[in-house]
Amino acid sequence: MSNATQLIHSIPVDEQTGSIAVPIYQTSTFVQEAPGVNKGYDYARSGNPTRATLESIIATLEKGEVGVAFGSGLAAIDAVLKLLQAGDEIIAVDDIYGGAFRLFTHIYEKFGITVKYVDTTKAENVFEAISEKTKLIWLETPTNPTLKISDIAAIAAIAKAHRCLLCVDNTFASPALQQPLTLGADIVVHSATKYLGGHSDLIAGLVVAREKELGDKIKFIQNASGAILSPFDSWLVIRGIETLHLRVKQHSANALEVAKYLQSHPLVDQVYYPGLTTHHNHDIAAKQSKAFGGVVSFTLKTDTAVAATQFVTRTKYFKLAESLGGVKSLLCHPAAMTHKSIPENKRRASGVADSLIRLSVGLEEVEDLISDLEQAFATLQEEAKTSVSYKKLATV
Ligand SMILES: *Cc1c(COP(=O)(O)O)cnc(C)c1O
Repeated sequence: MSNATQLIHSIPVDEQTGSIAVPIYQTSTFVQEAPGVNKGYDYARSGNPTRATLESIIATLEKGEVGVAFGSGLAAIDAVLKLLQAGDEIIAVDDIYGGAFRLFTHIYEKFGITVKYVDTTKAENVFEAISEKTKLIWLETPTNPTLKISDIAAIAAIAKAHRCLLCVDNTFASPALQQPLTLGADIVVHSATKYLGGHSDLIAGLVVAREKELGDKIKFIQNASGAILSPFDSWLVIRGIETLHLRVKQHSANALEVAKYLQSHPLVDQVYYPGLTTHHNHDIAAKQSKAFGGVVSFTLKTDTAVAATQFVTRTKYFKLAESLGGVKSLLCHPAAMTHKSIPENKRRASGVADSLIRLSVGLEEVEDLISDLEQAFATLQEEAKTSVSYKKLATV
């Protein structure tokens, strides 16, 4: 795994000027000496030095050959899907990010690409679902919001045996904690909007390919389809990456404390956090990642959306918002927010209960975060004394 020194020094000093910060090349085109004779750049969709620096940094961090930067995480996912053609099949984690589900279903199925969703926490389910048509296996680990863990190395071996590609959405872990390419995956994608950017101030996506040939195909798609990341946003992601190790370490330490606190709270039913030894894939998580990240989810003892709504509007430091991975703590109510478009029974079956609350634990002092949750629980308990819908809460 890359350490902090390697990470910090993967960000180069500008050779021309000595600038210690990466310059922002805010330009659309590059002057040529003669037709086709240039300094490595001709038009800024095809290549921009600021973006190229970010692309080489992320390739180093993920231990791959080629990095490619896009205007959003979904644009990055979209570029990977464009490697496929009509008639191909994808096997995807059933607990997939909602935006990826929407893209697969409403855009790519129309073009003749089919998707089978399986519970990838058991590698044998992937093995059983594979057919001749399978060209891509799509994993997220940990998943959102129930933090399910899949065994990357085991599934990579299955993918290799069947000559199909394995792509891992590494957004929740970040390369500071987990490097899927070293475990046999072919492609990693990121929503750099989350931990890589790290400050809730941009939207960006990244792809890294383990091998050059595959990476070049993705670069071709980037230029052909055009969903590039701007020079300024590339610079912001680079700046975020400078502190990635430090941030993710602290996010993980804070999240573990919060998860333990929640586990001991009488109003809490389930706590989902791969760092807890009670998490049923804790061993795999511990084997393939350095720590367990900053996202913790939990359900309340009364499984009503009303109680969850109450809770998420009573916290002071945990701000009610979608997204995750930033310095400031956030929380959301997936059933009413990120997972609202999923049919109720399908949503509940995948573990997203009506009372499920997802926390993105930030970098505040953990004691302050825990007291914030404590006071939100206290208001719930108060409410429970008078409200019929909270009756069950009052009795615990
Ligand atoms: C946010 C997210 C995405 C989508 O990224 P955007 O930058 O919002 O387009 C993809 N995968 C996961 C796991 C995410 O959390």
